[in-house]
Amino acid sequence: KELLANRVKSLTPSTTLAITAKAKELKAEGKDVIGLGAGEPDFNTPDHIIEAAYESMKSGETKYTPAAGTVALKQAVADKLEEDQKITYNLSEIFVGSGAKHVLYCLFQAILNEDDEVIIPTPYWVSYPEQVKLAGGKPVIVEGKETNHYKITADQIKEAAGPKTKAVIINSPSNPTGMVYSSEELEEIGRACLEKDLLIVSDEIYEKLLYGGAVHTSIAEISPALKEQTIIVNGVSKSHSMTGWRIGYAAGRQDVIKAMTNLASHSTSNPTTTAQFGALAAYKGPQDAVEKMRSAFESRLNKVFDQVNSIPGFRCIKPQGAFYLFPHVKEAAKNCGFDSVDDFAKDLLSKANVAVIPGSGFGSPDNLRLSYATDLESLEKAISRISSYVENKN
Ligand code: PLP
Repeated sequence: KELLANRVKSLTPSTTLAITAKAKELKAEGKDVIGLGAGEPDFNTPDHIIEAAYESMKSGETKYTPAAGTVALKQAVADKLEEDQKITYNLSEIFVGSGAKHVLYCLFQAILNEDDEVIIPTPYWVSYPEQVKLAGGKPVIVEGKETNHYKITADQIKEAAGPKTKAVIINSPSNPTGMVYSSEELEEIGRACLEKDLLIVSDEIYEKLLYGGAVHTSIAEISPALKEQTIIVNGVSKSHSMTGWRIGYAAGRQDVIKAMTNLASHSTSNPTTTAQFGALAAYKGPQDAVEKMRSAFESRLNKVFDQVNSIPGFRCIKPQGAFYLFPHVKEAAKNCGFDSVDDFAKDLLSKANVAVIPGSGFGSPDNLRLSYATDLESLEKAISRISSYVENKN
């Protein structure tokens, strides 16, 4: 008998993890490999958060909580949304889960029937299409064109939406491009989604990482109608350097939140109690560490951006957020003798000792993703290695 279920057989393994694993293997063999694959801040979680989590355990907060999170944490999330987005949510409109990834997973499970479609703009975060497929849905891939800074337009949404299309994902600031949608762009997209009755999944996990004066707008804050039409997904992973704690949330319509809560109640139950106390301190405590990390990312970006953009055959739009560069490198790959950027990335790892993520996993096979969530010295060294590699091959 065939043991594995069809749903897992069609899952695509994460390219990010594959390259990271290969880089680790080479490091273990003693090679001096620099990894630019990281998807997480390289800072430790701020001390006051760690202390609050520790204190909560010492005072006996080590038991189950409600499946969608403690009242205190949901209230803290509601206060954050009121303060930052100027939107009022009541607690029945908030779900806290085990990281934004798990929250998105529950969301797609909650809204998709077999063959329902979800519009996913390229370049996309690797897990979106897989999560949609796991829920029985069909990804409808729409190209965010380089000429439009890798963002999709309202017209593209209208064109792609059919009778089975249920939702569209907007990720701003974006992983992997670092691009940010303006409020005008979101207004137009919002109008298209209302016209076509599409739920908007707004992944705002990089909200706090903005550069060069860029401003984050949540599509849900544009109008009460768009608040109703949107599920915001966010969390503490990137803003407070808490990737390992696994706390994320969704905010939106009560019927969807209730369904997600029911799902979690039969799968994970509550996200780890201690981590919830950490996240509570993250939202309620001082925010200076958030700004300190943001400004460190910005100064790295400003130091290395021109260097990356001047590598022969690399073409890069300056990111306004997140912590990735996403240069178009097709020409560089060709000049180095490769038809595919995947092969170019493999050779960069084995010959230049630099691990970067090929864009194919993000639906953009002509690009590479370089993370600057690493110390400046390693970052500069890695970029100069890539640069010498490309120049020597030319
Ligand atoms: N959404 C995007 C765009 C991401 O890049 C990530 C993490 O890499 C997540 C969601 C998931 O975040 P979390 O660590 O909270 O699950």
